[in-house]
Amino acid sequence: MSAPVSAPATGAFRLPLRPELEGVAAYGAPQLDLPVLLNVNENPYPPSDAVAADLAAAVSAVAGELNRYPDREFTALREALAAYLGHALGPEHVWAANGSNEVMLHLLQAFGGPGRTAISFAPTYSMYPEYARDTHTGWVVGHRETDFAVDVDKAVALVREVEPTVVLVPSPNNPTGTALPLDTVKALCAAAAALPTPGLVVVDEAYAEFRRPGTPTALELLDTTPNLVVSRTMSKAFAFAGVRLGYLAASTEITDALRLVRLPYHLSAVTQAVALTALRHADELLAQVDRLRRERDELVVWLREQGLTVADSDANFVLFGLFEDRHAVWQGLVDRGVLIRETGPEGWLRVSVGTPDETAAFRAALMEVMT
Ligand SMILES: *Cc1c(COP(=O)(O)O)cnc(C)c1O
Repeated sequence: MSAPVSAPATGAFRLPLRPELEGVAAYGAPQLDLPVLLNVNENPYPPSDAVAADLAAAVSAVAGELNRYPDREFTALREALAAYLGHALGPEHVWAANGSNEVMLHLLQAFGGPGRTAISFAPTYSMYPEYARDTHTGWVVGHRETDFAVDVDKAVALVREVEPTVVLVPSPNNPTGTALPLDTVKALCAAAAALPTPGLVVVDEAYAEFRRPGTPTALELLDTTPNLVVSRTMSKAFAFAGVRLGYLAASTEITDALRLVRLPYHLSAVTQAVALTALRHADELLAQVDRLRRERDELVVWLREQGLTVADSDANFVLFGLFEDRHAVWQGLVDRGVLIRETGPEGWLRVSVGTPDETAAFRAALMEVMT
């Protein structure tokens, strides 16, 4: 007979929750079970059967060793990521973690903290203030212009005023799709480097592979800019969101510092094995990127033809509006089986670029909702 079980008690006991977490809702895009999911900027094309079989073989190969802790330094993976990035980077310049979300958290754990501040420019990625909160780092946001560009002079002035130890800027930006000119990155890096406590500039290039021809990557500046960090992820273009693998490139001093704050063995043997396998298939996994970029450009044109305002996008999503009641439009699409994201400034909505069928379903549903 088994012992009687009872659920943990609730009731009069008041949890000693950190005061800044009182009344806060957990982050997360609504995960609704709808036929067309265009809400979290995933790549809609799953791995082919051949790649899936190789991934399964890689997991199978490490399965017999899972009694052991993984390679704490994930050396083979760092080598493969460095080779993928190019730009003469070596494994010592690369750091990785469970999604670029964890990479960012490591950066703030090492370079933020009590009495320090991180900044960004709104509208921008909604997770940044949470990393700041969770690391007791102060959080200040400047603002983007009406076309969502970062004004260099205002941005530099904010850096001088706030003296942040970390500047977080996505390029292309989420949710607007706006890429940063390299001159802006250079100016931010110079301003942050000149502070009494010099700061780092983190260019979050989660969507870099989707940028339009002629849009540069901040990787080009790494060899001349010691306080620059460029972060990337396998979640978007690589079609590998389920694996949770983000990474960054920076100086050896920076990657060495991150080793101080990571949890021991933070990247599981399974994660390392599948990420390595995916990198061997990079060409195939990235094969749909061109198609998604074309679809994106067509979607921008189509939305404008409908009389909507659309932000130029270098990413695999498009921010469009302006709606007096954006929630009603979002709900109307949900009612028609299409999930997009209610995010960005008031009046705007964001849609990820899906397969041609998914995009067609979105267009048809939006036409209905708008009439
Ligand atoms: C999606 C996204 C990421 C990626 O997060 P992962 O943790 O790597 O899945 C990072 N930054 C921005 C701006 C994003 O939109």
